[in-house]
Order: sequence, then structure tokens, then C-alpha cells
Amino acid sequence: MLLNGKHAVGVDYVKNGKLARAHAGEVILSAGTFNTPQLLMLSGIGPAAHLREHGIAPVVDLPVGRNLQDHLALWCLYERPAGGDFREDMRFDRMAVAMLSAYFFGVGPATRLPGALHAFVKTRPELAVPDIEFMFRSTSMNAHLWFPGIKSRFADGTGIRPTMLHPESRGEVLLRSADPTAVPRLVFNFFSAPNDLPTLREGVKRAREVAAQAPLKPFIGKELTPADAGRTDADIEAWIRRTAITAHHPCGTCAMAEDESSVLDPQLRVRGIDGLRVVDASAMPDLVSAHINACVIMMAEKAADMIRGRSQLTAET
Ligand SMILES: Cc1cc2nc3c(=O)[nH]c(=O)nc-3n(C[C@H](O)[C@H](O)[C@H](O)COP(=O)(O)OP(=O)(O)OC[C@H]3O[C@@H](n4cnc5c(N)ncnc54)[C@H](O)[C@@H]3O)c2cc1C
Repeated sequence: MLLNGKHAVGVDYVKNGKLARAHAGEVILSAGTFNTPQLLMLSGIGPAAHLREHGIAPVVDLPVGRNLQDHLALWCLYERPAGGDFREDMRFDRMAVAMLSAYFFGVGPATRLPGALHAFVKTRPELAVPDIEFMFRSTSMNAHLWFPGIKSRFADGTGIRPTMLHPESRGEVLLRSADPTAVPRLVFNFFSAPNDLPTLREGVKRAREVAAQAPLKPFIGKELTPADAGRTDADIEAWIRRTAITAHHPCGTCAMAEDESSVLDPQLRVRGIDGLRVVDASAMPDLVSAHINACVIMMAEKAADMIRGRSQLTAET
């Protein structure tokens, strides 16, 4: 970021291996939840003590990089004894035709995902919003193309993926060094808040209850995970700690808020710096009870209106 005192006036960037410079009346930073805080910190905008550790002179002391959150999830997997349509579609010749149909006409099996069924549940009735999402999948994790006599069909499967929607644990994005080509350090601190592990454990138990329902019998066979690794609550928690991964919804590292101590104001402007906005998932103060891409797109639309001054006009009319 190119700063003139506390005014953002452009960016330095590398093109074809050469350093270049662009000047701008306003800079919009949209490098995502991990790289936006990195770029701000490299420019002297961030936690002053952490910047000094890396020899960067602080311009504005802000909690950049803090408040990192993500949707943590894991897979309860099952055999699918009868096999599903998707496995039949994965026969090489059928899939070749399906791909052509998808490409030229936009229809057919290759335009459908073997999933796309979602449920949002409350593990406790008193909760205001769901705390667990189930993502369903209708085929095996090991699905592959097959053809008689050349490669055998895969053993079909199904799965339910309990995902924690509102974790209380918070992590942070830190600099590894003042070198802009170095990757930032991501410290998630998963399960540092005491409620998170029990919430996800309850999510696993609810997923098992769903899988045990009679109408699902034709589709769900023997449990593959957690299976014997998850008989007691303690087992399930240990299994979660070993196998949980995120649903790739990181956000929150440059949170917007009314509160003066936040990184961004409600117009997505970096506090203490003129001419600099952040428009990406890092600006979300908290996770939503859903996948976050639509929120990011909506935020970008809103930001475009704010930048053009249209939202002010709308408010006045
Ligand atoms: C595997 C995966 C699956 C996902 N599936 C879903 C889903 O099904 N539904 C859903 O809602 N969300 C999904 N997400 C999340 C969704 O993609 C993100 O929430 C969304 O893309 C975030 O948008 P963003 O603009 O904040 O960041 P990004 O989309 O990450 O955009 C940031 C951009 O900045 C660029 N950049 C970074 N640093 C620099 C730099 N120094 N200089 C120049 N450019 C830079 C990056 O290359 C990138 O293009 C998924 C994410 C992943 C990784």
C-alpha cells in the first residue's frame, strides 16, 4: 500500500517480475481473509507491537488479523449398499456423453452435484439460530470413473457433514516476516473456547440420529466413520480433534463495526486512514449461519453502491 502520511494514494505491485506503481484516489483492498490483513500489516496498519517485532513502523494501531473464524466440520460416512444413480453415471462412456451434454446443452447428469442437500439444526431448542449445518453427500468420497473389464466400480457411500456454524473460538493472522512474498501465519485456536468441542460433538450425535431413521435405510448402510472410534462422548471428541477440517469459510480478520476500536467502520473504510476500504470476507464481523460466498458478493454490491454514493441517495429519497 502506498501511503502519504495517513492517506492511501495507490499500490506497489509486481508485474512480469518488475515492481510497478499505480496511483488512485481511493484504494479498495480485496485480497481475502488471510492476505488482506497481511497487506495492511505490511503497510504499517495493524497491531503496533506485532508490527514492530517485524521492523515495520506502525502508522495506525488497529486489531488487524484478529477475530479469525471458520466453519469447522467433519464427515460421518456410511456405506451405500444398493449404490446410487451417480455411480452408474460415472461409467466412463456414460460420463463422456454426460460431459458433452453439459457442455453443449447445459443439461444432464454432469450438471448435477452428488450433494446439494443441506439442513440447519439447533442442538439446543433455546438457541436463536441454528448452530449446526448438515451437508449431505450421496456418493462415496472415493468415487472415480469406471468401465467393465478395465476398472471396477467403486463401493458406493453416503455421508453427513456436521459443521459448526457459530464457533466461539477466535484465531489470528500474523506476519511471518516483513517480506511481502512470505505467506502469513494462521493461528486458528480451534476449540480454545470451551463450548465449541461439545457443540460439534452434539452435531455428530444428531447426524447419527438422522442416519438411523427408517426412511433412510435404503440409502445408508454400515457406518464407516467415526464407527468404533466414536462410541463414547470422549471418543467422539478425540475423533473430532483428530479429523476436523474447515469448510473453507474463513472471515473476520478486518472486522467492520460501529465500535471505534474495530478495523473498519460500517462503510468499510479503514479507521485512521483516508482513501482505503476493505471489501472481502475479512470485513465480516462474524460468521453467518450459511456458506459465506453470497455474503461476500452482497457486500461487494453494497460497497460498489457506497463508493458511487448511491446508498446515501437511497437513504435520502
Ligand atoms: C475449496 C473451497 C470451497 C468453497 N466452497 C464454497 C461454497 O460452496 N459456498 C460458499 O459460499 N463459499 C465457499 N467457499 C468460500 C468462498 O470461496 C470465499 O468465502 C470467498 O471466495 C471469499 O471471497 P474474498 O473476496 O474474501 O476472497 P477470495 O475469493 O479469496 O479473493 C481474494 C483474491 O485476492 C487475491 N490476492 C491475495 N493476495 C494478493 C496479493 N498480495 N496481490 C494480488 N492479489 C492477491 C487472491 O489470489 C484472490 O483472487 C469455498 C472456499 C474454498 C477455498
